[in-house]
Order: sequence, then C-alpha cells, then structure tokens
Amino acid sequence: MGQLCLRKNLLYGFMRLFSMPFKTLRSVSRTLGGVSRYCSITNMSSSLQIELVPCLQDNYAYLLHDVDTGTVGVVDPSEAVPIIDALNRKNWNLNYILNTHHHYDHTGGNMDLKERYGAKVIGSGLDKERIPGIDIVLNDGDKWMFASHEVHVMATPGHTRGHISFYFPGSKSIFSGDTLFSLSCGKLFEGTPQQMLSSLRKITSLPDDTNIYCGHEYTLSNSKFALSIELGNEELKSYATHVAHLRNKGLPTFVESGKFSGYDVMNGMTAAAAHLDIICF
Ligand SMILES: [Zn+2]
Repeated sequence: MGQLCLRKNLLYGFMRLFSMPFKTLRSVSRTLGGVSRYCSITNMSSSLQIELVPCLQDNYAYLLHDVDTGTVGVVDPSEAVPIIDALNRKNWNLNYILNTHHHYDHTGGNMDLKERYGAKVIGSGLDKERIPGIDIVLNDGDKWMFASHEVHVMATPGHTRGHISFYFPGSKSIFSGDTLFSLSCGKLFEGTPQQMLSSLRKITSLPDDTNIYCGHEYTLSNSKFALSIELGNEELKSYATHVAHLRNKGLPTFVESGKFSGYDVMNGMTAAAAHLDIICF
C-alpha cells in the first residue's frame, strides 16, 4: 500500500521547537471504480476499517467500522446524505457520531443521522451547548471505547475553544478535525496562536507512524501558500505537482495508487509554522 509520509520539517527560528521526525498519513485505496471519490482505508494492525466520505465542498467525514462487532461510527458528518449513501452501500447501521468541534460543516448531519439510526452523538464537554444532539460528553484525557478500540480524547483548542481530536492508539490513527491539515493548521477562530501551537505539539508528539485524518481537503491551496514561503524547496514543489495531479482527477490528496510507498513529502508543519509565524508577528 502506498503511503504518504508527512515530514514535519520546520525552518523558521523559534519554530524549530516543532522539529520532529516523520509521521505517516496512511494512504487510502479506492474501492469503487470510475470516478468514485469514496475511499476505504485498510488498517492492517487492527479490526478498524476507515472509509473517507467527501461532503459539502471540501469536507471529509470518516466512517469507522469495527469488523468484529459491526459497530459503526462517523467522524464529523457535515451533511447526512453522503453518509447515508455510504452506509447503504455497505449495508451498515450507524451507532455513533463523533464530532471534533461544533462548526456546522462538522455537525450538520448530526440530527438527521441521529433520527434515522438512533446513533449517539459524542463531543467535547466544552461544546455541549453547541453540538446538536450531543449524548456523550468527553473531555481532555478521557478514554472511551469504540467497540474494542480504545479512544483517547485530546483537547486540541485553537481553531475553536472546545476542539478535540480522537486518537485510536491501537489503530495508530488520529482524527484531527480542523486542527492539523495536510500542509497547514486550522484558522484561529476562538483560540490563540499559543493554544494552537500547544495542540499541534500534542499531535506531533504521537508515535511517528500515526495516521492523521483531517477534516478538509485544503492541500492544493496550502501547497501554493507553502511554495510562496519556500520558493526553492524541491521536495515541496514535487509534492505540490503531485497534489495538483490528484485534484485534477477529483481525488483526495490522501489517496495513493501504491506507487508512492516511502515517498517523502512535506507536511503541514512548515506551512502551519509559517502561518503561526505570521500570526505571532
Ligand atoms: Zn471548523
């Protein structure tokens, strides 16, 4: 299986404190032919299946499926219809809705999905007044079980004050919502640069082979911004070309065909650091 290896390679002054080795954004393989944009991710080390479901303009929701028990969850359903379509194709029910934060483009499908499937909505205690239909409140450091999979709740504020990320250590996966994207971090709507910096540090302190599943397809525009900062970065240029190729085909930039195993590409930390750099100054 091809992999995108995302290197956090930071260049700017105090941002060197970010300096770290590699993390892996596990590639996803297309399960349907033709122009399908749905992708399934095979996790070789656990019984957790992850399916990427594009929503709205550039959002990604993720279906979680425990093979052993048939338990199904969805992370950040911005709208219900694409999720229902994906569930129908798989003939799956829906047990849980996991929200990283309250924004409508991450929770817009909550109520319809809850009504249709009786799914329980999970979100941050700080956002219990803002997440539609919330049933299960979790806070930083809490552990929750998705079937047999332990889920660690990590507060990752900065984009919003109540933003959390869901870390599945057994599957080496984290759902980072709008905190960390490929080549950037989220906008600081409610938090400070220091809060975002701390949140990014939390994510980047996870094991190097952690798979990062983010909430938006922003990689192409991020690559243009990153190149405006690092004009001579050949590795980044190569990645930007590759990303443009994928987007021209309407594919998520997390999809690889299997040809890029071990391919070293720049990850968001450079651009994220530059972004924070600008904010901090
Ligand atoms: Zn958001």
